[in-house]
Amino acid sequence: MRRRIWALTLAACLALAACAPAASATTTVTGPITELDAAGLTSVRGFSLRDGQGNTWTFTVSESATDEDGRPVNASHLREHMALGDPVTVQFQREGDTLVARRVGH
Ligand SMILES: [Zn+2]
Repeated sequence: MRRRIWALTLAACLALAACAPAASATTTVTGPITELDAAGLTSVRGFSLRDGQGNTWTFTVSESATDEDGRPVNASHLREHMALGDPVTVQFQREGDTLVARRVGH
């Protein structure tokens, strides 16, 4: 029954072809962190990363953003990534001119 409802919802989405408006679609980008804007030891205001094409992406970190374990994004952890050049994968949404990171994993 549950599965059937899901299938119907999916069909409705496909029919409308616009369940997620482009403005709030979630996008993913991966690359090493180049800059970190930390507010203290643990909290992160934002950061930049460079993707495989050499583009720099600058993100604001949403307060509800989580890492791959579902914990709040941690500044010292991201600092480690930056120091090691270890890439992170960011899921973000565009809000006006701002890219808001929702999930930062690796
Ligand atoms: Zn990590």
